[in-house]
Amino acid sequence: MRVYQDECNHERGDTVLRQIAEGVLIHQSEFMQTNAVVVQDRAGVLVIDAGVRGDEMACLANDLSESGQTVAAGFSTHPHWDHLLWHASLGAPPRYGTARCAATVRERLSDAGARARVAGLIPPDIVEQVPLDLLGLIAGLPAEAARIPWDGPEVRIIEHQAHAPGHAALVIEERGVLVAGDMLSDILIPFLDLSGAADPIEDHLAALRLLEDAADGVNVVVPGHGSICGPDQIHARIERDRAYLHGLRDSGVPGDPRIGPSATFGRDWLPGVHERQLQHVSGRSETPG
Ligand SMILES: [Zn+2]
Repeated sequence: MRVYQDECNHERGDTVLRQIAEGVLIHQSEFMQTNAVVVQDRAGVLVIDAGVRGDEMACLANDLSESGQTVAAGFSTHPHWDHLLWHASLGAPPRYGTARCAATVRERLSDAGARARVAGLIPPDIVEQVPLDLLGLIAGLPAEAARIPWDGPEVRIIEHQAHAPGHAALVIEERGVLVAGDMLSDILIPFLDLSGAADPIEDHLAALRLLEDAADGVNVVVPGHGSICGPDQIHARIERDRAYLHGLRDSGVPGDPRIGPSATFGRDWLPGVHERQLQHVSGRSETPG
């Protein structure tokens, strides 16, 4: 991995953006391997889940402006803080989320104490570097909106009820890319939406079926956290998430490599997430069937 201090030395000609398909670039933050996605068009770019640290987002903005590209629109895949950030240097284009995503942001972030509360969710070692002033300033698209309103290549919205209210995956068919939001990660187990869904496991399984259909013909999947994958691995990722969910539901012992002894990421906290999900699910399993 690159060293932070050297990451964004534009005088040296560094760029943070990496091309993953024609006209689609990503920047991966060292924080949770969070992926920001840039979709290029002649008229400007769409920035999906802009990033986490202020300096990284500024760097991304710098990369864009040095190549003469302006940001035409932004999109947040879901209403969690690490997907709702923005940096002033990216400009002030319209920023969107699904209707349900935006409604959730309004509900959770409109009171005076919201920013302090969010700061409390951010790991202390990076909280100072996460700019919260433009957090969550998104407009909700009309419910059931099928695509992001912008002039670039069509970006289809695949909304589903998993991980967070109004979670959206995006398909850029023309470029063969599926942006999965916080689904289909190689490093994170499925994080259920435990904010009140009656059957979060079934919701998540249904979402995987939607994504499986959406992934048809796709060449690259970009998860919100972790590494991208090609068509040869898409099915395996979906199956691994399914196996985790089935395990969670049936036996409580999923045997998932991402929380097993060979896990390379989050060894000190990811098993705890699994434990909490297990408790939540088993608390609900008193109802027969
Ligand atoms: Zn996330």
